[in-house]
Amino acid sequence: MRSPAGAAAEAPVAALDRYLVIGNPIAHSRSPEIHAAFARQTGAAISYERLLVPVAPAGEFARVVDDFFGGGGRGLNITLPFKEQAFGHAQRHSERALLAGAANTLVLAGDTVVGDNTDGPGLVTDLRDRLGFDLAGKSVLLLGAGGAARGIVMSLLQAGVASLTVANRTPARAAALAAQFNASAAVREGGLPPVRAVELAAARPADLVLNATSSGVLAGELALPSDLFAGCSLAYDCVYSARPTVFMVQAEAGGAARTADGLGMLVEQAAESFLIWRGVRPATGPVYRMLRESIGAQAGGAGDAR
Ligand code: NDP
Repeated sequence: MRSPAGAAAEAPVAALDRYLVIGNPIAHSRSPEIHAAFARQTGAAISYERLLVPVAPAGEFARVVDDFFGGGGRGLNITLPFKEQAFGHAQRHSERALLAGAANTLVLAGDTVVGDNTDGPGLVTDLRDRLGFDLAGKSVLLLGAGGAARGIVMSLLQAGVASLTVANRTPARAAALAAQFNASAAVREGGLPPVRAVELAAARPADLVLNATSSGVLAGELALPSDLFAGCSLAYDCVYSARPTVFMVQAEAGGAARTADGLGMLVEQAAESFLIWRGVRPATGPVYRMLRESIGAQAGGAGDAR
């Protein structure tokens, strides 16, 4: 639009750096809210939006990613069900993405699409900084062997856990996950403890029981041994919700001293992505509190990560 006669010429509007979170479904994603808060806090001129990507035809995900970066986009978050495709599409990977075999963050370095995975650091930071839970020397039981579980195993090992056992509904997936990490140089030569795999029904009590299954979202209670939460200091659900999740209720009834949901993990993994893209790690406390309030006010159901 032209300025009215006599008015000062309008200053050119600086282009915003563009970011997206892509997945299917995606409407529930809290990531735009989180990154808008990070941007306000750090004075970053960004836009961050959701984009629903069809799961078919094959190749659609890759086309969307290429169009986005080809059009000058700066960074992508990836959520269900595309984290493995994102990993496959990246031309280079961080070590943690390589071990997870999944990427939740993509960034362009020169002409190269780099895949990273911030779920593990996000969880460990939430446990340490918000919940004051020191992983060093602890026994950990990880329920689930999907994308989220694979993303957090190495971070748990590197945080100094004494033992890590994975239990999954489909035992072969837990066994494969354990074998993959045990074969990595970090475990073979780095002095990290090997990962054990057991069937869900054979899972034993641990200091920390982590739910990285989507059971609560999809199906309700997990079928677990009745004594699993005896002596458990913390039961942590990667899913978050306005109300205690099904898993948190189950853990509390079973004797867990403390329970937490995954909202803090969500905010921390987002801060790690922001750091990768912008070189600055925003303060997460105020954003966590804002989100907790807004989720409570909306009294929504359980939510996915991004
Ligand atoms: P996947 O689909 O990759 O894996 C799902 C896992 O849940 C598998 O281990 C699957 O077992 C198990 N599972 C599903 N239904 C049941 C059931 N009825 N009983 C027992 N086990 C079941 O999902 P993700 O790993 O990506 O995500 C898992 C959860 O973690 C999601 O709810 C997601 O929202 C949350 N998440 C939260 C994050 C955060 O920042 N807070 C970050 C990432 C994820 P099987 O192998 O037998 O199919």
